[in-house]
Amino acid sequence: SAGPATDFAAELNEQQLAAVTAAPGPSLVIAGAGSGKTRTLTYRVAWLLEQGTAPRNILLLTFTNKAAREMLERVGALSQSAAEGIWGGTFHSIGNRILRRNAERIGFRQGFTIMDREDQEEMIESIVAREGLRTNDRRFPKGEVLADIFSYSINTGAPISQVVATKYRYFMPLIAQIERVQVAYEGRKREANSLDFDDLLSKTLELLQMCEDVAAQYQQQFQHILVDEYQDTNRIQAELVDWLGRKHGNIMVVGDDAQSIYSWRGANFANILDFPKRYPTAQVFKIETNYRSVPEVLNVANASILGNERQFPKNLAPVRTSYPMRPALVPLSTNNQQATFLAQRILELHEEGVRLNEIAVLYRAHFHSMEVQLEFTRRGIPFSITSGLRFFEQAHVKDVSAFLKFATNPRDEVAFKRMVKLLPGVGAKSAESIWSQTSDVLDGGTEFGRLHGLKVPSKSAKNWEQLVHTLAELAPDGSILAPSTMIDSVLFAVYDDYMKSKFANYEARREDLNTLAGFARQFESTEEFLSQLALLGAVETTDALAVESESEKVTLSTIHQAKGLEWKVVFLIWLTEGMFPSSRSAETDEGIEEERRLFYVGVTRCCDELYLTYPDLRLNAGYGEALQRPSRFLTEIPEELVEGWEVSASRQKEPTSDDEPF
Ligand code: ATP
Ligand code: MG
Repeated sequence: SAGPATDFAAELNEQQLAAVTAAPGPSLVIAGAGSGKTRTLTYRVAWLLEQGTAPRNILLLTFTNKAAREMLERVGALSQSAAEGIWGGTFHSIGNRILRRNAERIGFRQGFTIMDREDQEEMIESIVAREGLRTNDRRFPKGEVLADIFSYSINTGAPISQVVATKYRYFMPLIAQIERVQVAYEGRKREANSLDFDDLLSKTLELLQMCEDVAAQYQQQFQHILVDEYQDTNRIQAELVDWLGRKHGNIMVVGDDAQSIYSWRGANFANILDFPKRYPTAQVFKIETNYRSVPEVLNVANASILGNERQFPKNLAPVRTSYPMRPALVPLSTNNQQATFLAQRILELHEEGVRLNEIAVLYRAHFHSMEVQLEFTRRGIPFSITSGLRFFEQAHVKDVSAFLKFATNPRDEVAFKRMVKLLPGVGAKSAESIWSQTSDVLDGGTEFGRLHGLKVPSKSAKNWEQLVHTLAELAPDGSILAPSTMIDSVLFAVYDDYMKSKFANYEARREDLNTLAGFARQFESTEEFLSQLALLGAVETTDALAVESESEKVTLSTIHQAKGLEWKVVFLIWLTEGMFPSSRSAETDEGIEEERRLFYVGVTRCCDELYLTYPDLRLNAGYGEALQRPSRFLTEIPEELVEGWEVSASRQKEPTSDDEPF
């Protein structure tokens, strides 16, 4: 590629430039929100390329795969050397990439499948059922809770007994049985040649620690390792970075301890605070200017985070000039009015020339977006929702993928059971029995034709034969079809009819599956397709899969998923006690401090115009009404920093028929 060399000094401030051009060795960039940490990493990669580092010798770890893609696109534009070949992505996707090449070394086979959370719970539940642990007179933890316990234990390194003792005291008397389930779960995953998300991290670490030759190869390869959002790494992720960087020691991590919001998932912001202790030669860079937000927004953020005691003091000075409006504090009478206000205000902003994709509505929990979604739909305001189910996790997408998973990995018990449960009259019990016959007959092979005539419930006999026939078509003579061809076959042979008979919203689901097939066309290998699909983040909804879709939309997102991003206009909603902070986290000081950091992340997503809204009354279909108190995060903000808004009832008019949809 061509273009003049990037003038690094002109596009970065002094502190950023120092980090970008830092001498080799470990370094830490610790700085507040919007100070250009991500920008610094991006330029660092471009700079390394200009210094002659080969792309494949660079590893860039980011919070989402999309973030890595965007950063690398930027690098491509900045640098004169090609960025192609850089290893960029989330810890999970890099772990997957390393494990795909080395699965045998840790007792798995090539072509393993990835289980999502639901698959994981299914498998655990089936172990609990098989071992007879749940009886009528005993409350054994649900699959969901067990998956939580196992995951937290893996990610923090705390033994199961300790996790139960601190997070689920109620189940203390059952510790021995819970541990037994965990051991069985590990074994079952091996039999099924399936890894869960945590395994993508922990097994990668295990691989590096156990196999010196493999470790040496990657340690040699990764001359430079760069990590964004380092404050939200957990124990395993930090150790992975340490291991991979062992030979060259060129590790640059960037982050902001005030934005650590994933401790509930095992993240530990001690990783960032202790970095200089773990790497005594580390150079530390601080950036004290904020480029993103107008001073009015920044004042609110700075004032709010002061409420946290355990905080690295940082004072962010604004670069931008004053904005004509202070952040708006907007009380609304009910949650429905809150939604109406948002719609109304967004329509006005749009009329004033603000583009819809410059606007975000952010909230603490996904269910807070319910009325907003309804209202926006009613008014024809296009929005994209970047939380809730991942695309991959929708039932119909998972049903179809189950065929592909099983055809490529005939040991995948969870995928198999999902498939047979689509047949009439097949529940958990029959699925178990059909599976045990199937695994005996196949023994890990793909001669699916041999499954004709197995013992299945009579109601489903005909469908079973059809299913076997379909499977055999997907894997003719030991080979395997391309993923998009497989999807077409599954739809044609069984699933399209199934959807028509089963779902009222057949068309919408069919549309999703067309998207899926379109996405699949980019891949020749089904294994590659399936792992990419599994690794798509929650932020990467249908939009990310579709080819065009550059139309403008308002973003609806949880704050957790909005990390690292920015919008001109931000609405933070549902700011009431019990919602934000959530009542559960309000029980402990640590809980409150994490919620306050979350609020800080929310506020600092905003460039210009911030709205803080809360309903006085919660209307709840079926539960009556509940009075709400404004969030402490609002009452903590000095009055003079915000502008109190009064929204009169007349503003809350019903939409008329001349309201123009987009
Ligand atoms: P967060 O903590 O939210 O992840 P961050 O520290 O990573 O934020 P960036 O996203 O890199 O910050 O930068 C915030 C905004 O400021 C971006 O729009 C970026 O382009 C802009 N910016 C950062 N540094 C500069 C600079 N030196 N000159 C001009 N714009 C800058
Ligand atoms: Mg960033």
